[in-house]
Amino acid sequence: MKIRHALVPAVFALLSSSVFAADECSLTVTSNDAMQFDTKVITVKPSCEQFTVNLVHAGKLPKNVMGHNWVLTAQSDMRAVAADGIAAGLNNNYIKADDARVLAFTPIIGGGESTSVTFPVSKLAAGTAYSFFCSFPGHFAIMQGALTLAP
Ligand code: ZN
Repeated sequence: MKIRHALVPAVFALLSSSVFAADECSLTVTSNDAMQFDTKVITVKPSCEQFTVNLVHAGKLPKNVMGHNWVLTAQSDMRAVAADGIAAGLNNNYIKADDARVLAFTPIIGGGESTSVTFPVSKLAAGTAYSFFCSFPGHFAIMQGALTLAP
């Protein structure tokens, strides 16, 4: 974990460099034991065919206590998807089975773990407001951000 922590700032430095333009189609979002994402706004470039989100849990708590995932929906669907996810339970990553409102999601992870999800950018429409959030019960109110497709 010490190595991973040391690498995260370096990865962000690389992502912000135009030399590594290919990395415009992926992003690392870090979560922690304080129920926070370090990212509040994601802008996806239409030139990307696929977009990958790498989710890192930099905390120490297990996933049944402070689990996090990264879920993408239309902003208008977020609240209902989060509510339906509670009943689905941890074994289903707090996502209702076959929920068509869910555009992408990662499994729930605990402290020290990481995961990722890749989705086709064709799922996104310009001008639509999307939300990303954690569907662990009680988390979405704080653990959320905005995602848009750049014009
Ligand atoms: Zn969470």
